Amino acid sequence: MKIHHLLGATAILALGTLGAMAQGYPTKPITVVVPFAAGGPTDVIARIVGEHMSKTLGQPLIVENVAGAGGTTGQARVAKAAPDGYTIGMGHMGTLGASPGLYPNLTYDPQKDFQPIGLAAGTPIVIVTRKDLPVKDFKEFMDYAKKNEKTINQAHAGSGSVSHITCILLHEMLKIDPNSIPYRGTGPAVTDLIGGKVDYICDQIVSVSSQVKGGTIRGLAIATPERSPALADVPTTKEAGLPAYQVSAWNALVAPKGVPADVMKKLSDALIAAVTDPATKKKLEDLGGVVPDAKGASPEALAALIKSENDRWVPLLKAKVKP
Ligand code: ASP
Repeated sequence: MKIHHLLGATAILALGTLGAMAQGYPTKPITVVVPFAAGGPTDVIARIVGEHMSKTLGQPLIVENVAGAGGTTGQARVAKAAPDGYTIGMGHMGTLGASPGLYPNLTYDPQKDFQPIGLAAGTPIVIVTRKDLPVKDFKEFMDYAKKNEKTINQAHAGSGSVSHITCILLHEMLKIDPNSIPYRGTGPAVTDLIGGKVDYICDQIVSVSSQVKGGTIRGLAIATPERSPALADVPTTKEAGLPAYQVSAWNALVAPKGVPADVMKKLSDALIAAVTDPATKKKLEDLGGVVPDAKGASPEALAALIKSENDRWVPLLKAKVKP
């Protein structure tokens, strides 16, 4: 009886401490783990959204780039972080959707080891090439890639990354198996594309649109039903001759499992405030991001998205890519 009472008192004390902790949250800077190098789409989106969330939360959101293994190193770091709301992560269709299909020993389960904060942006895929690749358009690119399968180089952000898996789909359709060169993110991959060291990337629009407009790389096709206002001159894959190639990625914020509900609410409310803020929304849209409304950025919508993306990608990748 005495022990029972004691346990009860301890539990109440513990609950009280958690409540107090959540009440003042946040009292110090929040780390946002970006599982890729700086300059890529995940990094760019985290910085834009994080800037506005900092204003709402009254504390800075500090981006920490933890790259490696197609983003799974950084994503695993988030899964193992203390569940106090001071470490969250910007994941994406690769780390939260596809990776279990490519990493049999993945140390996290996207559906069980995280609490969803919300979707930050949808990111259509654009096929970009070095500017002097000798092709006039996407049709010529497809012929060129088939003829030069042994020598053409695709850059990507590591096994399971968006640039990897979306080019796997493209290669399947073209029936080619070209060389691929992994980077720690598509930020550095695009730098090498500009420098002519690699030939093409299937990248998320937000970190390539400015370069395409500036003419340092070429955008051959966008894999969405409609053109993007951010890259109005780039034809859709339907217009360009490969209508079946339709793929769009996304970036989203998650926290480790176990963060108190009121802290989670502060985080998701701050994300919704960011994506519905006209200036922040415009920054993302100017780069080609597809910005969710409040409902689309809710934790519930993200939980459903992660589940449906696991259902879509994991069996597909397990069947296509032999370990
Ligand atoms: N776009 C990258 C990918 O292919 C990731 C990044 O650098 O944000 O997954």
